Amino acid sequence: MYDAIVVGARCAGAATAMLLARRGHRVLLVDRSTFPSDMRMSNHLLWPPGGAALQRWGLLDELIATGCPPMATGTMDLGAFRLTGRFVPADGVATAYAPRRRILDGLLVEAATKAGAVLWDGCTVHALQSDGTRVTGIRGRTRDGRAVAARGTIVVGADGMHSRVARMAQAPAYHERAARQGVYLTYWSGVPVSAEPTLYSRPRRSVVAFPTHDDLTVVSVTWPLEEFRAARSAIEGNYLAEVAAAAPELAEKLRTGTREEPFVGAAVPGFFRRAHGEGWALVGDAGYLKDPCTAQGMTDAFQHAERLTDAIDIGLRDPAAMTGALADYQRRRDASVMAMYEFTCAQTGFEPPSPQMQELIGALRDDPDGTDRFLSVFAGTVPVQEFFAAADPAAA
Ligand SMILES: Cc1cc2nc3c(=O)[nH]c(=O)nc-3n(C[C@H](O)[C@H](O)[C@H](O)COP(=O)(O)OP(=O)(O)OC[C@H]3O[C@@H](n4cnc5c(N)ncnc54)[C@H](O)[C@@H]3O)c2cc1C
Repeated sequence: MYDAIVVGARCAGAATAMLLARRGHRVLLVDRSTFPSDMRMSNHLLWPPGGAALQRWGLLDELIATGCPPMATGTMDLGAFRLTGRFVPADGVATAYAPRRRILDGLLVEAATKAGAVLWDGCTVHALQSDGTRVTGIRGRTRDGRAVAARGTIVVGADGMHSRVARMAQAPAYHERAARQGVYLTYWSGVPVSAEPTLYSRPRRSVVAFPTHDDLTVVSVTWPLEEFRAARSAIEGNYLAEVAAAAPELAEKLRTGTREEPFVGAAVPGFFRRAHGEGWALVGDAGYLKDPCTAQGMTDAFQHAERLTDAIDIGLRDPAAMTGALADYQRRRDASVMAMYEFTCAQTGFEPPSPQMQELIGALRDDPDGTDRFLSVFAGTVPVQEFFAAADPAAA
């Protein structure tokens, strides 16, 4: 019998398992993947608050030691002009990183097992056990076809956007938004770029480039949904044409570089899911999903893993307090991300900026502090409402 069974062992699940195990709870961590492994459907820009979480957990130095390039500045190329700024720090961490998921998730899984969590990798969860009133455990199947089962006081669904735990627990969704754009990305060698995330923002297109492990550069292209679907049929040519149109100097480097991996693409909707019920809880993309254009997913997963751990810890020590603690987790999760969720959804429409917004962004050309703060809205260290209210109350 475990205190907690965590389904999904990446940013949300491995972090939750590690934190619960560090507090002395008996934790089972289950994933159908084996580790270390990449997560194909993800880019991996980790903003300073994500790095700050790793630092709190004693893992940031380990990540840095893997050779992950630090990014102290960011650039937004708006065609007519560029804004480059530093990130406002989060708990003293002022750099972003873009770790390959096999490295980041591998570090987290290792930290979870070091803390005492039991890992069942290569094991797919296909059912929840229940006593008729509450979830009491999981049933799964190993890669060699063996049926397995485990019981726990709480089952945590950290199993990503298509969460089977959420489906089986019938967690209702709310604040749902359809996908309005789609992104394709791949990895390039021999394409040196400056050590900063660079966004080329163009009418109805955006291109993003940043360095990652092994001297590789990730380059992504985002289209409005219909054009994303049309682009799929000949993705290489369409992708290269968009990079050439938006960022000719980057396209020139791609011509002499080598594409190292297949293209991956996704169009991601937005939703929140009820985050808890009798014997279950959700964390990470399983409970809160949004378009990746503001790159908040991994950082959110870390922060929500900490909050969920606090709630479960309270509930394991005092079962009568579990429901209230989990309700508080959901309330705090939603309150902390709502403004960024709306901001992210607003970015997905490729709508031209309002005249006030154009004026506001134009004024940043002569305002280095304002530029730092603007870029830090994306980095998650300056609250969306605070920046827009301070810069232009009418635009907030
Ligand atoms: C195209 C794209 C680009 C992105 N770019 C960024 C970015 O730059 N920065 C950023 O912060 N975020 C980005 N994101 C979002 C980020 O990938 C997610 O927010 C993050 O991976 C969520 O972590 P998670 O642990 O909740 O879920 P996941 O990373 O999805 O992990 C879920 C795990 O659950 C396991 N699992 C699923 N079902 C089962 C089952 N039935 N049994 C056992 N195991 C199961 C899976 O094998 C997987 O390992 C991007 C997403 C996409 C799609």
